[in-house]
Amino acid sequence: MLVVRFRPVTPGIQDIVESFNRDLPDTISVIIEQDDSVWPWRLRAESLEHDLCFGGPAGKQEPTEDRLFWMLGDLQSNLIEHEFGYAWPRCPEHGSHPLKVSSRGWMCPMQDISRTWPIGTLCATGVADEPKRAPGEVRWFRADWGWGVIADPKGDIFFFTPEGQLPDEKGHRLYEVKEGHRVLYEVIEGRWQGRFRYTDFVVPVDSLPPAQP
Ligand SMILES: [Zn+2]
Repeated sequence: MLVVRFRPVTPGIQDIVESFNRDLPDTISVIIEQDDSVWPWRLRAESLEHDLCFGGPAGKQEPTEDRLFWMLGDLQSNLIEHEFGYAWPRCPEHGSHPLKVSSRGWMCPMQDISRTWPIGTLCATGVADEPKRAPGEVRWFRADWGWGVIADPKGDIFFFTPEGQLPDEKGHRLYEVKEGHRVLYEVIEGRWQGRFRYTDFVVPVDSLPPAQP
């Protein structure tokens, strides 16, 4: 398909995409483009190895700023899953979860933290050391995406939970998953979520009732 690219009419939209690009590794760049398909406006990531079409469609009109940030967040999630296989960009404060892209800048996704870092400046920002995680501990988790990864010696394992909650085996009691939690999980061999191995069964060990004597 022939893709016709041109700059959006609004310089502010292009500026946001270019700032986002400055925080990406040099081997990947993100473009905003338009063609004649049903959803003409979309974000696409290109790397040395792949031509990646990630990022939500924006509709027939140039995306609004709010819509663009939603698309950038979607693109970020996909880049982590399919291209990087690690948290990007890691929170400078905590060293673990990926930051959340927003009109206020990059934000720590933890609810009680309000720190922000300007988009496009992360290369110059020191990042806290990544917390050490033992096998079977949640390495990081983004509640707004509903997914995170568990540390495992054979490679991190992707898990998905809507709203950060998990139903128990009966489907109604909900568990909360937090970073650093030790969890029970079963890897589904041969199934991958992008670059991560995959599990669809995760229960925090601490939430289990004590064993009966
Ligand atoms: Zn953080």
